[in-house]
Amino acid sequence: MTPSLLLGLIGDGISASRTPRMHENEGAAHSIPTIYRTVDIAEPRLAGARLEELLNAAIRLGFDGLNITHPFKQQVIGFLDAVDPVAQRIGSVNTVVIDGQGHTTGHNTDVTGFAAGFRAGLRGAATEAVVQIGAGGAGRAVGFALAELGVAELVIADTDVDRARGLAADIGAVAAVGTRARAIGLDELEAAAASANGIVNATPVGMKAYPGTPVDTAVFGADTWVADVVYFPLETQLLAEARAKGCRTLDGSGMAVNQAIDAFELFSGQKADPARMRETFLSFGA
Ligand code: NAD
Repeated sequence: MTPSLLLGLIGDGISASRTPRMHENEGAAHSIPTIYRTVDIAEPRLAGARLEELLNAAIRLGFDGLNITHPFKQQVIGFLDAVDPVAQRIGSVNTVVIDGQGHTTGHNTDVTGFAAGFRAGLRGAATEAVVQIGAGGAGRAVGFALAELGVAELVIADTDVDRARGLAADIGAVAAVGTRARAIGLDELEAAAASANGIVNATPVGMKAYPGTPVDTAVFGADTWVADVVYFPLETQLLAEARAKGCRTLDGSGMAVNQAIDAFELFSGQKADPARMRETFLSFGA
């Protein structure tokens, strides 16, 4: 068993992240002294720092693992010794395990995290036809998770239509999952949403800086389920309007908490307690 854990999160503008507290609390509950540092390139002391330099420093200082976030999830792959098949397939790593010899392995717990959150929060939801809005960093993980969850027809819309096309093609290339994925223009979004079983928002629309909803909720039926990855705030306008229509909803905490649960297991070899991790996450306020 690992006697202690030294962990970190590398990214831009991450000083308010809830991930350090989730790991430190969970480590303590398992009697594993855990220190989790943010390595925020927005801080003046890290101005001009390169990812490779930060990664090598963490390895040399004896870190046991790292979470990686915007803008480094793709770039980090080039600096790792090994990458697990899921992360390799989507071309994005958010968790790096560093063993005692300094050997690094990349994983993507955003994919497993969204899938676990979906299974817990939308159990039994119909997945014949799903509309996903947003094909950026979070959207790529969500798209592959929806495919793993057995979505038969996945329609992807993004203001950057090439991004939506790229994600649809990448999902389609994974024959094993059997999902038919295609991109649509924003002008086709409402029609697609009106006939879908479920809608997933993977854009920043709904955050304070991006108010509103990414799709007109008037087209939802009471049996449409609606998931949002935004978690600042947890109660987005999209979810509030959907719930008012009687729809089942899933907020962004499911993905955020479950990515940390899966990462904790990779770092420590121990199962995290989902209720405790969620409680820590929610203790920050919605
Ligand atoms: P991103 O910038 O990488 O991607 C956002 C995508 O949305 C872009 O492709 C953009 O073109 C598209 N977009 C923006 N507005 C749109 C609109 N009105 N209609 C259609 N497409 C639109 O951002 P990201 O890293 O993917 O983050 C997106 C959101 O997900 C943020 O709110 C972030 O906080 C959240 N997020 C949540 C979790 C979680 O664990 N719950 C994890 C990662 C990100």
